[in-house]
Amino acid sequence: MNAMAGASTISAGVYTAPSTRNLSSASLSSANALRPSVPVSTRKFAPSIRCIAEPPEKIAHNISISTDGGSTKLQAEDIIGAESKLFVQTYARSPVVFVRGEGCKLYDTENKEYLDLTAGIAVNALGHGDPTWVKAVIEQAGTLAHVSNLYHTVPQVKLAERLVGSSFADRVFMVNSGTEANEAAIKFARKYHYALSKKNGGDATGATELVAFTNGFHGRTLGALSLTSKVQYRTPFEPLVPGAHFVDFGDLEATREVVVAGRTAAIFVEPLQGEGGVCSATNDFLKGLRELCDETGTLLVFDEVQCGLGRTGRLWGHEAYDVKPDIMTLAKPLAGGLPIGAVLVTERVASSIAAGDHGSTFAGGPLVCHAALAVLDRIQAPGFLESVAEKGAYLKSQLQEKLGKNPHVKEVRGEGLLVGIQLDVPASPLVAAALKAGLLILTAGKGDVVRLAPPLIISKQEIDQAVEIIQSCMPSLQ
Ligand code: PMP
Repeated sequence: MNAMAGASTISAGVYTAPSTRNLSSASLSSANALRPSVPVSTRKFAPSIRCIAEPPEKIAHNISISTDGGSTKLQAEDIIGAESKLFVQTYARSPVVFVRGEGCKLYDTENKEYLDLTAGIAVNALGHGDPTWVKAVIEQAGTLAHVSNLYHTVPQVKLAERLVGSSFADRVFMVNSGTEANEAAIKFARKYHYALSKKNGGDATGATELVAFTNGFHGRTLGALSLTSKVQYRTPFEPLVPGAHFVDFGDLEATREVVVAGRTAAIFVEPLQGEGGVCSATNDFLKGLRELCDETGTLLVFDEVQCGLGRTGRLWGHEAYDVKPDIMTLAKPLAGGLPIGAVLVTERVASSIAAGDHGSTFAGGPLVCHAALAVLDRIQAPGFLESVAEKGAYLKSQLQEKLGKNPHVKEVRGEGLLVGIQLDVPASPLVAAALKAGLLILTAGKGDVVRLAPPLIISKQEIDQAVEIIQSCMPSLQ
């Protein structure tokens, strides 16, 4: 029965894990691991991890993270090998292990430098290790990190005040991620219509249906997933939230056909689709959605998780349009790399929400909120957004100039520093070649779009370097 002899013991259906493992969490988590002068302490796991009725072969992998014969150097292949055994395999990660970052540069276990045009998927707006952000995090971590939402804290209120003061919104609800922001938005839309229906003496629920668009991405938890367009993300997890309709992005007439007064609770739309391939909505489309919502009593939700907070060269992606939503969801760059999200709502929506309708243990803790204020201080400083717009235009013009004649390049598009290169072939060979050449880029759309979402602090010189590497890697495309 004890297949992993020496690694575990079993008694009466209780599996006892080995008392130690040769896996140093200290060395895994610390950039210091690269510096030979720093001793590695081997973490001892709790002497008895009890997993009831688990067969041992499912748990004990006997994983060993080599520390290079006693030195402190981490071996990338060991980490990658361990990941493949320890993690539920939901990610197709690139074969690289990063240990530190500075500005727009990341460094792997071999100290190889990479120019980062992914920013942790549009998260690290201020790049890596920004001194003002680091100072804010350290300052707040040493003061007060977490108390839960049972109590009031100062950074939370300051952040809410800043978000409300800088947007259409009257009130804020804080969450921990983009998918949670959309999840909360779904609940708020449902509750708004429920309360309205009750007030009007109507049936129990009111309008419950939701409308989203092709190539839209709103998250991976079940509610948000119901609005995420990619069929392969949704199918294995059905049934999802009932009454979610998908319409072609940009097709106002088709949207008019599915939106029904008293039945449709909300329309979810990204003003600039990120995962879907860097596709901007037209002014007519967003205006038309607003009018349709006003006509039918439907709530308009802008998902600005990826395109918001300065990425487009405007604080909000929807500022490019003369349209305001009822609800807006935010996340990714808000706390510069710490997990946070926010749902911004009008008073009309907020007034239907009561104590206990929604909640989160971690959301809006003082640490993340103080970090977010440091990020907003920088993004809202005079000239910052203008520089994002200018650098974005420069990036697009350089890509057009250097790649425009390549037969695989169909279009260069985007707003600010969210730029897409539409190819006529899969982009993954180019992404892999760029990684080898020291450049990190993303894919999007149907895998045929290269997506660039650098830290907003990228320099023109770094943009030149990135364009040069992409150009040199173009022959990788078949
Ligand atoms: N909405 C949009 C527009 C996104 O781009 C993403 C993430 N790519 C999400 C929601 C989900 O965010 P998260 O991964 O933080 O849950």
